Amino acid sequence: MRNKIFVTRIIPEAGLKLLREQFDVDVWQDSLPPDREAMLTRAKGAIGLLTLLSDKIDGEIMDAAGPKLRGIANYAVGFNNIDVAAASQRGIDVGNTPDVLTDATADIAVGLVLAAARHFQSSILQVRALQWKTWEPMGLLGYDLNGKTLGIVGMGRIGAAVARKLVGGWGMKVVYTSRSSKPEIDQEFNAGRVSMDELLSQSDVVSLHTDLNEQTKHMMSDREFAMMKPNAILVNTARGGVIDQAALYRALKSKSIFAAGLDVTDPEPLPDESPLRELENCTILPHIGSATFEAREQMSLMAAQNLIAASVGQPLPFPV
Ligand code: NAP
Repeated sequence: MRNKIFVTRIIPEAGLKLLREQFDVDVWQDSLPPDREAMLTRAKGAIGLLTLLSDKIDGEIMDAAGPKLRGIANYAVGFNNIDVAAASQRGIDVGNTPDVLTDATADIAVGLVLAAARHFQSSILQVRALQWKTWEPMGLLGYDLNGKTLGIVGMGRIGAAVARKLVGGWGMKVVYTSRSSKPEIDQEFNAGRVSMDELLSQSDVVSLHTDLNEQTKHMMSDREFAMMKPNAILVNTARGGVIDQAALYRALKSKSIFAAGLDVTDPEPLPDESPLRELENCTILPHIGSATFEAREQMSLMAAQNLIAASVGQPLPFPV
């Protein structure tokens, strides 16, 4: 009998095809994620789980899957939805999909910088609502980016790609934070690692690129917003939990910062009553960082390769 893989959503065919060559592949068909009950039931007996960032995978799910479970392949580079410690206690390998989505996500960050700096959201809404009456000398004024300072919080793969695009395209100057020093980055961007406080007070654009971990949860809160320039733009393509959203709302509403562009929120989607959605100076996208045909196809292949390796006890090609 062939081993079973549970895939928690329909993903591009390339990876599914690879998996079907060796396994019985059970693919969740709904566009909404499986609820807890369905996860516990459908994971049962699987040798591998192919999961999304919206699936909370903890020890209970792993135990429900049972002793055959060898690997969990997250269809994302971030893996804060998986209890990695619980997996390693049970000898289950966990993999992710780095690199192939770096440029797609960095493009969305750049798009959000432009959207926030130049009022895309209110401009589009005005045109749609037939409220735009004439060319206005003083209307919808935003900020130039050329020569301004870009603060990258978390100078990893995506952070560096955003810096490359905004330095190459707009001649921005770069400052950054990260946990470790990065001499090659210092050289490439003629930049230096600075403290978070220095970054916040110097930057015209602050772009968040850390993973979500205990140190980065709510790392942007009232104190941090108060340190930013009044013309500053905040962009988040990392994870919603990095920002204290109530504090962001206060900063945007009081115009203590100029605008924000978010690809990620906490929770996703935002609840109906969230006041952030109503702000003119807050552009929100529905977590589309990696949503290109190219990136998603590569992600499906990498996730499949991770599960194939895990099933035979080989090291994962893309471990977390
Ligand atoms: P990465 O290469 O691992 O970069 C993460 C960076 O964050 C690293 O440079 C790390 O510093 C830094 N960091 C972690 N904790 C920090 C802290 N407390 N203070 C300062 N810096 C800290 O990951 P990546 O591939 O660029 O992806 C980054 C994140 O983007 C992912 O974890 C994911 O959550 C998110 N993402 C979102 C989308 C989307 O669709 N919007 C798509 C892809 C990824 P060190 O290098 O010093 O360790």
